[in-house]
Amino acid sequence: MLELASLKEFLAEPKQIVITTHPKPDGDAMGSSLGLYNYLILNGHQVNVITPTDYPTFLQWLPGNSDVIIYTEKSEQSQQLLASADLIFCLDFNSLVRINEMGHYMRNSKAKKVLIDHHLEPEGFEDYRLWSTGACATAQLVYEFIVNVMGDRHLLNKDIASCLYTGIMTDTGSFRFRSTTSNVHRIVADLIDCGADNTLIHQLVYDDFSENRLRFLGHCLLNKLEVLNEYNSAIIVITKQELEEYKISTGDTEGIVNYALSITGIRLAILIIERQDVVKLSIRSTGDFPANEICKKYFNGGGHRNAAGGFSNEKIETVREKFDLILPEYKSQLIQ
Ligand code: 5GP
Ligand code: MN
Repeated sequence: MLELASLKEFLAEPKQIVITTHPKPDGDAMGSSLGLYNYLILNGHQVNVITPTDYPTFLQWLPGNSDVIIYTEKSEQSQQLLASADLIFCLDFNSLVRINEMGHYMRNSKAKKVLIDHHLEPEGFEDYRLWSTGACATAQLVYEFIVNVMGDRHLLNKDIASCLYTGIMTDTGSFRFRSTTSNVHRIVADLIDCGADNTLIHQLVYDDFSENRLRFLGHCLLNKLEVLNEYNSAIIVITKQELEEYKISTGDTEGIVNYALSITGIRLAILIIERQDVVKLSIRSTGDFPANEICKKYFNGGGHRNAAGGFSNEKIETVREKFDLILPEYKSQLIQ
């Protein structure tokens, strides 16, 4: 592992840089990537943000969005950019298998890799690391990179601040998760001072739903929510047919799992979605309950203690039935 501080010297000359993040990028993935992008272009670097897949429309207002390359849409160009880069920043993920096919081209690239991330157990593919599970968002670490590592607080502008604000806002559940320390509030205050319009950003991210999206949410809560009081758990299972019926697109299912967790006494909320060729799981928990452990043990996944995910190649009914065995295993922790 190289000394992170030496990056300052490396970046003193214009470089070819790729920034990438995890598939189906969320607010933190896009906010941290575009925050870093808007910072690096100020220093004359040639910078490309490549996402493994598409992402929700409610993130497409972010400054720099029009320059983002989506790997699945431009794979050859992406592969060339990865091969010719001097430096690749990997944001908000920590294992190359997580980024699908792109991981192969990353591994083979001669570029030095910089990991900026807050997830547990990094694989260790990187040359430089700015990693802290204590960080509320990768966007917080990007802020610290710009301010503390690069010493460029004076370069924070409205574009950078808006992107980083979005990352912190979305990954902290609007500043309410335990990770939202007083220091995070100080950083957020600084981002507002640098031009982030907090009221507008909340509107752009949270109040820009299609009618379908809202009716779909109603359907999930009314017809699909299964509350298992015996285990202080709630499960929502969504089939491919339902996604098609309500014309649900990328990002429209985000946040649904949190409604299940908002019921008094519920400690574990599970969202199971039948995607095109895989069943995806989103699991949320409260307190000490390890959602990531279930994802790691049973669903090829991982994540944070209170917010984790994974996938399964089994049928959706089989995935749901697995919880009839998993929940009893964790009963003592769930009913504490
Ligand atoms: P979400 O439920 O919002 O898709 O994901 C919540 C968190 O779970 C993410 O921030 C990420 O840390 C983790 N996560 C989601 N899907 C996967 C996956 O397939 N593999 C791994 N390792 N982590 C995941
Ligand atoms: Mn994150």
